[in-house]
Amino acid sequence: MNYETLADLALEGKEIPRQDLRSLLRAPDDDVLAVLQAAFRVRRAAFGKRVKLNYLLNAKSGLCPEDCGYCSQSKVSEADIDSYPFLSDKEILAAAGRAVNLSARRLCLVNSGRGPTDGEIRAISGAVEKVRETYPSLEICVCLGLLGEDKAGALKAAGVDAYNHNLNTAESRYPSICSTHTYRDRVETLKAAKKSGLSPCSGCLFGMGETDDEIVDLAETLGRTGVDSIPLNFLIPIPGTPLEGGGGLTPQKCLKILCLFRFVNPKSEVRVAGGREVHLRWLQPLGLYAANSIFIGDYLTTKGQKPESDIAMIRDLGFEIEGAGVPAAAPEEEFAVRLK
Ligand code: SF4
Repeated sequence: MNYETLADLALEGKEIPRQDLRSLLRAPDDDVLAVLQAAFRVRRAAFGKRVKLNYLLNAKSGLCPEDCGYCSQSKVSEADIDSYPFLSDKEILAAAGRAVNLSARRLCLVNSGRGPTDGEIRAISGAVEKVRETYPSLEICVCLGLLGEDKAGALKAAGVDAYNHNLNTAESRYPSICSTHTYRDRVETLKAAKKSGLSPCSGCLFGMGETDDEIVDLAETLGRTGVDSIPLNFLIPIPGTPLEGGGGLTPQKCLKILCLFRFVNPKSEVRVAGGREVHLRWLQPLGLYAANSIFIGDYLTTKGQKPESDIAMIRDLGFEIEGAGVPAAAPEEEFAVRLK
């Protein structure tokens, strides 16, 4: 298979035949470097060698009435996690300051739950206004569950830039991972966010038994929906969750998935998100030849790689942090400590 042809089609804004996308996912592992080389051509056309950093904050944790099988915060999870109500403005401002110090362009505020109450919308709006005042150049994305246009409009008015609501898996697989809401509910939320002027962010979670056809479905659906950013997560099998035994991914398969999403969504931000450390392992840097964005810091209820390791990875690739204006520099003191 000639992977450069896929890059040509992507760069010309043409649709890639479905059978080629399926073949890409089944490509021999020895072809991974050739696939990445083609995907890098598409990535570089839209994003150069820039890497966008995003900082995630679990602003309200646990006690969710939904039953998403992968989630440590669901009502069916027995995972040992912290549960707390929405953080104070002071705590959110402190997190925003940490995001800025880590050169993150975007703060992602996440609340557990089916969807926000009116009181939560007011609390979040108040916190967002304060972050906006203190750090005007920091983008703010919120992820609050299902919502309609009225609440999305209130968030937009408060200064929120983007709304995250992941499709997670294909429509055909959705009932096997969640019974308390539907794939359609998620699609409607994305539409409401977009209609209200919020930048739509929606991604996927792999390692839940999905087929190659379902992976292609997801990439094409997100392309048709016109989402601006696509976080691609790889299941972290958390003990105590129904999917604690899940996974079944290899680093090469993860890389092929990242490339596929890059070819189908050539101009969207593709983020290699949760689980990159677990599933890409030593091949993490290669992911950035297809993706142009990562989370820096920890995930919702699990630890991420140390920020200085991410910064060193970006620097060693010869890439640069978006918005920093200069090549990524590792904090010298941290390196001195590690080299001892
Ligand atoms: S709705 Fe969100 S917080 Fe609740 S179980 Fe599903 S993923 Fe977890």
